[in-house]
Amino acid sequence: MKILVINCGSSSLKYQLIDMADESVIAKGLCERIGIEGSKLTHQPAGKDKVEIEKAMPNHQVAIEMVMEALQDPAHGVIASTDEISAIGHRVLHGGKVYSESIVVDEDVKRVIRECFDLGPLHNPANLMGIEACEAAMPGKPNVAVWDTGFGMAMPEKAYMYAIPHEYYEKYSIRRYGFHGTSHMFVSGEAIKFGGLDPENAKVIVCHLGNGASVSASIGGKCVDTSMGLTPLEGLIMGTRSGDIDPAVVQFICNKEGKDVNEVLNILNKKSGVLGMSGGVSSDFRDIEKAKADGNHLAEVALDAFIYRVAKYIGAYTAAMNGVDAIAFTAGVGENDKAGRKAICSYLGYLGVKIDDEANDVRGKAAVISAPDSKVKVMLIPTNEELAIARETKRLI
Ligand code: AMP
Repeated sequence: MKILVINCGSSSLKYQLIDMADESVIAKGLCERIGIEGSKLTHQPAGKDKVEIEKAMPNHQVAIEMVMEALQDPAHGVIASTDEISAIGHRVLHGGKVYSESIVVDEDVKRVIRECFDLGPLHNPANLMGIEACEAAMPGKPNVAVWDTGFGMAMPEKAYMYAIPHEYYEKYSIRRYGFHGTSHMFVSGEAIKFGGLDPENAKVIVCHLGNGASVSASIGGKCVDTSMGLTPLEGLIMGTRSGDIDPAVVQFICNKEGKDVNEVLNILNKKSGVLGMSGGVSSDFRDIEKAKADGNHLAEVALDAFIYRVAKYIGAYTAAMNGVDAIAFTAGVGENDKAGRKAICSYLGYLGVKIDDEANDVRGKAAVISAPDSKVKVMLIPTNEELAIARETKRLI
């Protein structure tokens, strides 16, 4: 069975064709600058050279048509016809209060995706365009929606309700949803398997540390809390996002700088985080580490604050679960930055966490990085959102 996984952004479309027999990637690629001048498709068939095709892509429908052509091309294609594709799995950002579980797309599902445009203004419209483009290109094939907010929907009320007047929850569905849900679901599940933990009761904290960053706590794979909120702005310090902040800061900057709320929210989303804290060095953690090594004090503070906040969330989530069996690091920083992992774990001695430096000298593959006598198993688990979406799609069709 072959499953096509589609992840649409407002001007991009990422795809992977996965053979579910051995979960291998047959081909993957990226359409960039959809609806903008200079659009380009980069197609990578497994074991063959990468192909770049420059052609106008005025919308996602044309992008999907180009992907279908690339997949069936006599020279760099990997399938003879779309009959070989059993189903399409879509990453959809927001299912609102309605959907927690992945679901086969029908008119009701599309209506909910549309109703959630307010909650995911950049992604939900693009996700719907991707689904409709696949429906047009491959009529009759099942499309499955896998919600980025799905994992967080298992949170109890005490974790997801904001302490604001209740009418806003009733009227506008304002609550904490959490994001990176597919990654947290995948990594917590893999951590349970890899660590040989009890699948029903294991208390796992996943630190998804990339350009966007979030922490989740789950028991037996069910989310009890996660650090992002109504939007991905809440929680950890990220590449460009501030994470947790006193909301009065927004009003203060508005008044002092003569800006409106939208402008300040844009600053908190795109110009803050380690980029803003470091005085503009970079949103890329490697650049921040280099600047710190070169003696840049603001870069050092940004990195220290990032690590400190991750450690605080781990402490909070350990309290929320009354214990923790495993901590799993994932995403760009979590999978590659051994110094960062060690620095975070250096706050966790009180939990009996002990890192094994030799075991921690690893990147990009699943590994236990804690010492044999560590009270908590610490792991590196590479995330794979596409595979998680493909597995969900296979399960549903
Ligand atoms: P992601 O959003 O998951 O793709 O992660 C991207 C982030 O991972 C970028 O900020 C990279 O700088 C960071 N990253 C990748 N490799 C390393 C590394 N060796 N050390 C620190 N950060 C890294």
